[in-house]
Amino acid sequence: MSGVPHPDYEVVIGLEVHAQLRTRSKLFSPAPVSYGLPPNHSVHPVCLALPGVLPVLNRRAVELAIRAAVATHCTVHPHSVFARKNYFYPDLPKGYQISQYEEPIATGGWLDVPVPDGDATRISRVRLHRIHMEEDAGKSIHDPAVVGSDATHVDLNRAGVPLLEIVTEPDLRSPVEAVAYLRTLRSVLRYVEVSDADMERGNFRCDANISLRLHGAEELGTRTELKNLNSFRSIEAAIEAEIERQADVLDSGGRVQQATMAYDPATGRTRVLRLKENADDYRYFPDPDLVPLVIPSDAIEGVRASLPELAEARCERFQVEFGLGEGDARILTESRPLADFFEAAAREHGAGQSVANWILRDLLRALKEREIEVDGSELSPRAFARLIGLVDEGVTTVKAARELVPHLVESGGDPEVLIRERGLEAVSDTDLIGRAVEEVIAEHPADVESYRGGEKKILNFLMGRVMQRTGGKADPGATRALLARRLDGEEGV
Ligand code: ADP
Ligand code: MG
Repeated sequence: MSGVPHPDYEVVIGLEVHAQLRTRSKLFSPAPVSYGLPPNHSVHPVCLALPGVLPVLNRRAVELAIRAAVATHCTVHPHSVFARKNYFYPDLPKGYQISQYEEPIATGGWLDVPVPDGDATRISRVRLHRIHMEEDAGKSIHDPAVVGSDATHVDLNRAGVPLLEIVTEPDLRSPVEAVAYLRTLRSVLRYVEVSDADMERGNFRCDANISLRLHGAEELGTRTELKNLNSFRSIEAAIEAEIERQADVLDSGGRVQQATMAYDPATGRTRVLRLKENADDYRYFPDPDLVPLVIPSDAIEGVRASLPELAEARCERFQVEFGLGEGDARILTESRPLADFFEAAAREHGAGQSVANWILRDLLRALKEREIEVDGSELSPRAFARLIGLVDEGVTTVKAARELVPHLVESGGDPEVLIRERGLEAVSDTDLIGRAVEEVIAEHPADVESYRGGEKKILNFLMGRVMQRTGGKADPGATRALLARRLDGEEGV
């Protein structure tokens, strides 16, 4: 189970993602979509399948589906059909889910995915098989802490919430590649504001289909499907575990059985939920309550024209326009708020690479510690650019400015005022620095002697002492120069 590679086998993975569309109301009912409501507080006769009610398609959901399809290079079909997918489950009051089956809204796109490969990154093109719209089911709650001993409660807030199902071709070749694809897809869906794509809130969910075959084999091996993976880490671990399991079966001369699997993080193993003999038979048929969805071509072109610049294009532009390295540009464009922040701060400040360094080194850490994105922080691009400018001008030190970043993220404010209020101005007063230098030299005769004897590294130690004496406020460049001059100038005396 230790992720030992099985060199004989080629890994084949296809992913199905369910992403919740960012709409105010449900796919076919006016019930609001909102997170964290008490159970069954967002339901409507349509969600409950009460007799005599009819579904009405949410126009906004269709627009968002088209946006996603266009952003992932899919062909949007002018004619698609909603079908009933029939099955019985306590959290499915209608006894069927409305989905698209034979005629989905979009097919045949692709995403270019940056995949970590040693120290480098390579681009892997992952083809999309289809994108279709469907409604979510409700939720069964088994947690004894919530519902008492062995009861099950049903919450229908989620029933009818609009989802996009995005299905890849079996193009992925490793767990790392699978996760890289998911990150790229999530970034695209957020860029075009189609979905919050937040895994923790369950609005970006993934099923993974996995098979092995001998290298060079044409035919795909028998696959299993891993259900309900809900973090990038568990997805990678689960796929790894399933590859191990299948390889062990094949190595011992057995055959992989087509099955639906679950991953248990506690044991690090996958187990069979149900075998294909009990195959799902959904008896799909077109929903007689809904007419086919017809999308005029000018509507598709309208959406295409309204899309923002996507991460890929922006990453390239940042490299050209601001002279960034590819790695930096990639991180800065992964989320749209961060890319917007960088771009605004870089324009304000003038030196893109310097702003990038400050973001990558200090800002991202401060955001991560608070578990927020840059648009949830109080720091404006303008204030950030000003802070860096104050360091450039020697008004404050790098150290002091770095210490201000978390405060600015949390409470905002004008960096110039904060520096004054907190006494963080760089000390460029040569008398003060000079005095500190003299004191340090006087206190460390042995080190001074070693330095003059050729151990030039001791300069750093003495420098540290001088900075300490000035409370870290001395301008480091000026201080170092003065100290070196003082030490070298007296050589041989
Ligand atoms: P379903 O049976 O779930 O309706 P599909 O046949 O459309 O689905 O395939 C679902 C996913 O499984 C797709 O992402 C597809 O690429 C992938 N897939 C299909 N066959 C294999 C295979 N042999 N190995 C790995 N992935 C596969
Ligand atoms: Mg499936």
